[in-house]
Order: sequence, then structure tokens, then C-alpha cells
Amino acid sequence: MEIRKTLKLKLIPLTKRDKAEVVKLFKEYRVLVKDALQIIMASDARSRKRTHDLCYRVLREKYPHIHNKFVEEAYKRALAMYKSYRRLLRRWERGKLRGKPSQPTVNELRVVDLHIDTFRIEQNGHIYVFRVSRGSGQSIRFIMLMYNYALNQLWGARIGNSKLLFDGGEIYLLLTIVKDVETRLARNKFYIDVNEDSVAALLIDFDRGFATLFSIRYNVSRIRISYRNIRRGIQKKVDDPYVRNRLLAKYGAEERNKVEDRLKKTVHTLGEVAENFDANLVREGLRDLRNNGRRKRKSKNKKLNYRLETFPYSKFSTYLDTELVERKLTVEEVDARGTSITCPICRYSDKRNRVDRETFRCGKCGFTLNAHYVACLNLFSRHNDGMVAISGGRIMLITHEAGQVVPVYEASYDPTKNEWVLRGKPVLIISKITQTTKITQLMSTGNHILSLFSDLETRS
Ligand SMILES: [Zn+2]
Repeated sequence: MEIRKTLKLKLIPLTKRDKAEVVKLFKEYRVLVKDALQIIMASDARSRKRTHDLCYRVLREKYPHIHNKFVEEAYKRALAMYKSYRRLLRRWERGKLRGKPSQPTVNELRVVDLHIDTFRIEQNGHIYVFRVSRGSGQSIRFIMLMYNYALNQLWGARIGNSKLLFDGGEIYLLLTIVKDVETRLARNKFYIDVNEDSVAALLIDFDRGFATLFSIRYNVSRIRISYRNIRRGIQKKVDDPYVRNRLLAKYGAEERNKVEDRLKKTVHTLGEVAENFDANLVREGLRDLRNNGRRKRKSKNKKLNYRLETFPYSKFSTYLDTELVERKLTVEEVDARGTSITCPICRYSDKRNRVDRETFRCGKCGFTLNAHYVACLNLFSRHNDGMVAISGGRIMLITHEAGQVVPVYEASYDPTKNEWVLRGKPVLIISKITQTTKITQLMSTGNHILSLFSDLETRS
């Protein structure tokens, strides 16, 4: 399996001349994108092919001293900018946007796209030099600041197209690395159901003969709501458009960082659990959401549209897949249609089985459980062709293949109890519960896995 990652590394121009040259490169690239934008907009070009035909020769003739790969990257970027502007414009025409979108400009452009042919990394002892070829035999040299994490990541990786970023007076390299990782088939399974505010999980440990249902909350919609209120306040109270835009940008960045942080911590926690229990991950197939999501986003399913707007599903699953693959674990997809309205016990499927957002109650057999947990149990039976049954008041999983019966322990889905998991140190906590003694304790008392979390928290 292939994974892609971006490393952000600080670059220091080697000499004064290199510093002047890189400033020039940023300026020139901006001009290239600007020219390409003008051509693209004047002829309403929308395809890569047409853009190339219109721009390549014109720009090459105008800027013969610049490496041709910068020219190509510049019109690709200009095309992307134009297309996103057109999308906004269409939304505005349909009355879905309040203000008319402004035409794309390059004033805010602080990146230079680097095709792999335009740069290389040279190592000289402990010193890493980053060399960008500007064209006409000229190159710009930087000292790369390498920290151990980046070095480990670079080991055995291929390099992809990257970017230079100018941020706060400093120059950074956004280096794309591509790695082939061999994954192995683990014996245990980890089923997850991703929701806008939480992820529900069913972890099956066949080796030790038990399964656990638990959840991790990230409350992304709570973050969204509080920032929406901040935005409304700014719109109402701040009259100066310059100040207003700066404030909006500032809080927008803050919101993105917060959501990103929650996603990453959640993904990391799930990765730790999977690795410690040696489990492959099985999740809902998000292919229809991920692939050219833009067009499909305008689906008739209002609820789906809302979910997509508040929670970045495809981003979350990309992070999750990378996390698992880096731990050499496999990710599998299962068709999740109807998993939250189908009874895992008697298989009766009806919208009315979902009593409210959180509760599932089967209209036929009366089986009642948190709706997200129900989705996890259904993922299990679909994926493994297994069965979910009730015996002595406890949910049991029966695998057809191995003929094994596994009891399920449930953690409470109460948000107040487990939200803190993300504020604490997930690594530490998860590694603690994976010690066999804790597992025995969990099994013998039938305790909720997350009550165990809080128990450990008070003790440490
Ligand atoms: Zn039922």
C-alpha cells in the first residue's frame, strides 16, 4: 500500500544571493500564475489540455529564463483557482451564497509549487542542502533544518512534488513523501463507525476471546457552533472591512487548527488501539464521498450534505488509513448502507428502528442499543459473514469461519464520561489498558472499557 505525507521543514538560504534569488522566485511565480489566470479566464478554459495549449507556449516565450516546470505548475494552479471561483459563482447564482465571490487574485499567494524535476536534497555529513533549480543553469541553495522525526520519515521514502511556503518572514519546504508499506493481515478486527461528533468502535480480540464497544468523542460540531457565533458577532459589530476580514481570517485559522487537532488525536488513539490489539481496521466505504466529492456533494440527501459540511469525512479517513498503514495494519472497506437502521439480531430493517439520533430500537424484536454501536455490529456481520446474537443478556458475536463465540462488553456512550480521552494522553492510557492484567480485570468484572480509562486517570 502507498502512503503520502507532507513534512514541513524550515529552510535557510545559504547566502545573501540565495536569499535574494528566492524572493525573486516567489515574485516571478506569482506573476506566472497571474498571467496564466488572465489567459484562462479570458477564454474560460476548464480542462488541463486546453489550459496547456493556451498557456504553455505564450508563457515560455515571455519568461524563457524560468525552468519550464514552474510554468506548468503555475497554469495548473491558475486553473484550480479559476475552477474553485466558478464553483462559488454558481452557488451564488443559485442564491446559496450571500456575497458575490470576488475574482481570484494572486495577492495572497505565498507558495511556489515545486515539480520533482526542479529540486533535490543533497547530504553532506550531517548537513542537508536543498537545491532548487530556477532555470538557465541557476540554482538556489538552502540549509534544511532536519529533526529526527523527519529523518525517520524520509528513510526509504520517495519524494513527490512539493511546495515552498513563505510564512511570517520564514521560508518552509512542504515536502511530499511517498512510501510503500507492506501490511500484514492481523488476526483481530477493529470496526469503526465515523459520525460528526464521535467515532464508535467494535474491537474484537479473537486471541483473548472478547469484544468491546466503545466510543471516542471529538465534538467537532461544538467547535463549529462556537466559531459560527464568533463570526456572527464580528459581522455585526466590526464596521471596518479591513479589520473585519483580518479578524475573520484569524478565527477561521483557529477553528481549522482546533478541528485538525481533534481529528489527529482521535486518529492517533485509534491507531494505538489497533496496534496494541493487533487488529485490522474495517470502516464504512467512503469511496462515494471521497471521489470527486465536489459534484456528488450536491446530492439530494440533505442530511448527508449537512454531515459533509460539518465534518471532513474524507480527510478523517485519509488520516486514519495512513495511521494504520504506517503501523503495517490493513484497512478494509465495507458497504455501510442501512447499517444504522437494521437490527443486528433479527436483521429487520426499517427507518423507524432509529428512534432518535442516538437510539436504536428494533420494531420487531425490541433489541435496543446506541445507534452507532448498532452500526458497528452490522459492519461486523456484513464483513465477516458472522452473526450477532443475544445470550444471557449479553451480546455475542459468532464467527462462521472460525466457529468462535465472543462476548461483547459495552462502554457507556455518555459524552461527559469519555470526551476527556482526547484531552489526556491517549497513548499512555491505551497502552495501559492493553496490559493483559487490565484485560482480565475488564473481562471478569464486565466493566466498561471507558470507566476503566477514568479509573486509570485518577490513579496516575
Ligand atoms: Zn430485531
